[in-house]
Amino acid sequence: MSVISTSASAANDVATEAARRRTFAVISHPDAGKSTITEALALHARAINSAGAVHGKGDRRGVVSDWMAMEQQRGISITSAALQFTYRDVVINLVDTPGHADFSEDTYRVLTAVDCAVMLLDAAKGLEPQTLKLFEVCRHRRVPVITFINKWDRPGLEALELLDEVEQRIGLRCTPLTWPVGVAGQFHGVADQRTGEMVAFTRTPGGATAVIEEELPADAAAARYGEDWVRAVEELDLLTATGAVHDSAAFVAAATTPVLFGAAVTNAGVRQLLDVLVDTAPAPAARPDTTGSPRPLDAPFSGFVFKTQANMNPAHRDQVAFVRVCSGRFERGMVVTHAGTGRPFATKYAQQVFGRDRDTIDEAFPGDVVGLVNATALGIGDSLYAAGPAVTFPPLPSFAPEHFVAIRATDSSKFKRFRRGIEQLDGEGVVQVLRSDRRGEQSPVLAAVGPMQFEVATHRLAAEFGVPTAIDHLPYTLARRTDAASAAALNAAPGVEVMTRVRDGELLALFPDKWRLSTVRNRDPDLVLEPLLADAQ
Ligand code: GDP
Repeated sequence: MSVISTSASAANDVATEAARRRTFAVISHPDAGKSTITEALALHARAINSAGAVHGKGDRRGVVSDWMAMEQQRGISITSAALQFTYRDVVINLVDTPGHADFSEDTYRVLTAVDCAVMLLDAAKGLEPQTLKLFEVCRHRRVPVITFINKWDRPGLEALELLDEVEQRIGLRCTPLTWPVGVAGQFHGVADQRTGEMVAFTRTPGGATAVIEEELPADAAAARYGEDWVRAVEELDLLTATGAVHDSAAFVAAATTPVLFGAAVTNAGVRQLLDVLVDTAPAPAARPDTTGSPRPLDAPFSGFVFKTQANMNPAHRDQVAFVRVCSGRFERGMVVTHAGTGRPFATKYAQQVFGRDRDTIDEAFPGDVVGLVNATALGIGDSLYAAGPAVTFPPLPSFAPEHFVAIRATDSSKFKRFRRGIEQLDGEGVVQVLRSDRRGEQSPVLAAVGPMQFEVATHRLAAEFGVPTAIDHLPYTLARRTDAASAAALNAAPGVEVMTRVRDGELLALFPDKWRLSTVRNRDPDLVLEPLLADAQ
């Protein structure tokens, strides 16, 4: 076990290390290019030698994250963690979010573990439903957002139109740092708002390596690109005149979003994104604990679990808990305290996990993500700390479910395993588990933000616990928190059912739709019917 040093030099070290970290997630609608840009970012930083080693998708399938059969079938990444690489002497932590078509609580929880988000837009599609939802969460949590308009190599919308859409529909002021030279589909390069110069892009043959960049002073750009350059400069000038100028404080306060243009597939604009992350994105800051007081970065180690994943290694059952380091130096082998139980937890097997790659890590600093193996005792939201008084970070948000199914084991002799599996999925936050007096213990109800979670749940119950299950969709779309006094009246109302959320014992009243809810409420205004956490609404 290592002894935590609290000497001035160690504290200094931690502050310096924290200052050179940038921890972020990419948020996007599926197909906007999240996997492609992840690969491009890593490629730029030479974290991997060739594009394609990050996600198992399409023809790139099977390279890294193919450990789960369902992932292979669907070509999606359900499990992920953090990719760490160094760029310009800054340690970049890209915390991965699930890539499937549903938005899920998992994605939202990742946003609690990062200091900034990159919102990726498809130049031809602009804002899509999931981008909007994810963006709402960023705004609610005051996560600063950098906007990257991707696929500029393909025909798409006008640059000004895209910015207008972000401003109108999200209410976020756009402050472009680069501006495309050439309309979408004719991407010559970008004008750099800060230098007034152009970075011209030339695709490399085959496109497998970083794009070739050439810096051109304004007059050379004008000579070579004529109209396209003039238009880019005019549009940028127009924006500058209306006050759309990047301001670090406004960005960090989540009031404005710097905007960049690029094409992840050819790596165009990716270096500029990395530079903005390094130069502008916030480094980890002191996180408030449950008392509201910020835990200094150089205090002894503390962190919280933002994600758990069971059975990542088919060879043996295990559970990995992913911890965001909030303060201090984490050293592998140190014994930390689990704030919830006061029990010690040995960190002999600390890892860095990305896709199927797992490396043992020896130390970590604020902003880093540590995967703790054999962590069955740790649940989502749990705090860990080393030395000194107990530290507890606020609980992670849980979102209002919109989909509900009743689930049962089709082979009743497997009920015990079924129950264990359901507990596991609840603990990991894959689904929320509800109990209803009407249905009994044999048939718990699963609730989720997106319906794909049910597929994940049934698949895992079969694959990991050997329990085939059947599900019945329930006709509810809306949950409200209620209390015991209101429960009887609500249960008596047609189409309404009250259930207990197993995780925290909350009573939830489920409604088929908002009209039913308002009828019930109008009839009896004294009933307790509170919205669940507003984050996702
Ligand atoms: P994800 O679902 O957000 O992870 O999206 P992917 O990274 O898998 O990309 C979806 C599709 O868009 C793939 O066929 C990519 O090759 C393509 N794509 C991604 N970025 C670009 C880009 O900059 N330009 C073009 N033309 N295609 C892109």
